[in-house]
Amino acid sequence: MVVVIGCSRLGASIASLNSEQGVYTSIVDKNDHAFKKLDPSYSGFKIVGDAEDIKTLEKAKIGDATEVVITTDDDNINIYLACFVLKYYDPTDIVVRLHDENKRVLLNDPKITVITPSLLSFYLYKNLWNDDEEDDK
Ligand code: AMP
Repeated sequence: MVVVIGCSRLGASIASLNSEQGVYTSIVDKNDHAFKKLDPSYSGFKIVGDAEDIKTLEKAKIGDATEVVITTDDDNINIYLACFVLKYYDPTDIVVRLHDENKRVLLNDPKITVITPSLLSFYLYKNLWNDDEEDDK
């Protein structure tokens, strides 16, 4: 089971993909308008609430999650949630979106994968030019 925290565009896409693939999915957001970003085919749970409140996480069945994806718009909340989930629950994987690459060091655990959009964009840009150089050869 996958629990997605924060129905950002990334969170909504990940939840929609998992639901499409038949994975039991639940997504949490404090603003129910955010769920509009989900694909119309999304068939998982939608939980409205503050993810900093343990009752919200329990409603989302965090205790059953093998994967937790954390994509609120606040890096500090994401870091706090990742540490909290790591300490008190038992998912195999925790994926965390951070805007600030420098904060990656705060999440140094083999279960945690950090996604940094600006760094990913930079790598894509670099590869674009590398591909062009290969084509010129
Ligand atoms: P975005 O602004 O597209 O990156 O989306 C971030 C989402 O995270 C928004 O839909 C926010 O409502 C949601 N969000 C931010 N903080 C929390 C929180 N503490 N609990 C649940 N959802 C949150």
